[in-house]
Amino acid sequence: MNIILLGPPGAGKGTQARRLVEARGMTQLSTGDMLREARTSGTEMGQRVAEVMDRGELVTDDIVIGLIEEKLEADPDGSFIFDGFPRTLAQADALGDLLDRHGTPLHCVIEMQVDDAALVARITARSTCASCGEVYNDLTRPIPDDGKCVVCGGTEFIRRADDNEESLKTRLLAYYKQTSPLIGYYYAKGALKSVDGLGEIDAVAAAIEEALG
Ligand code: AMP
Repeated sequence: MNIILLGPPGAGKGTQARRLVEARGMTQLSTGDMLREARTSGTEMGQRVAEVMDRGELVTDDIVIGLIEEKLEADPDGSFIFDGFPRTLAQADALGDLLDRHGTPLHCVIEMQVDDAALVARITARSTCASCGEVYNDLTRPIPDDGKCVVCGGTEFIRRADDNEESLKTRLLAYYKQTSPLIGYYYAKGALKSVDGLGEIDAVAAAIEEALG
């Protein structure tokens, strides 16, 4: 089974993808995580990617399509949750071609709906465990009092360089201009399911499970 989690920055795609990994043994493919890894590689490409990401703009299609292609080639029988990919119509077409080539269908696209005010509040309060990537939020899911990650016990937490109001404005604009057309694209293909992404993590997870059938 392959599914796409679609939604603006801060909608909870990463959090819900991790839940699905646990519940269903699927593999999370987050292009954001892959790019954050690439930026620490010290290569010239990594440096260029870092600048684009920090501004909140989208990295070029060929780079992210190449990253996804590599992962699919490495695990042709995998069951994937695409998190933060595709983000443009060109990426959506490329993913369709890649899945066709591997003879594996797209089960559905889950659109996570969250209003803009909630996104800003969520993102500016967000931090992640440096070891395992578990997501915390100062307001709704604070780091435990003992300072240890509930998943891995890690004690270092980081705030993303692009989780500030300035980059967020650009990221939201990129979402509405370049990514939101995918809602109509997948609706027309009969693949779209929309869930309310505003509730508690467990409630959203339950809504996603129901949508997956
Ligand atoms: P995310 O972790 O999904 O919020 O992604 C963080 C940043 O990585 C985005 O703001 C973009 O700069 C870049 N990025 C992640 N996925 C993509 C994608 N599919 N296409 C282009 N840029 C991406």
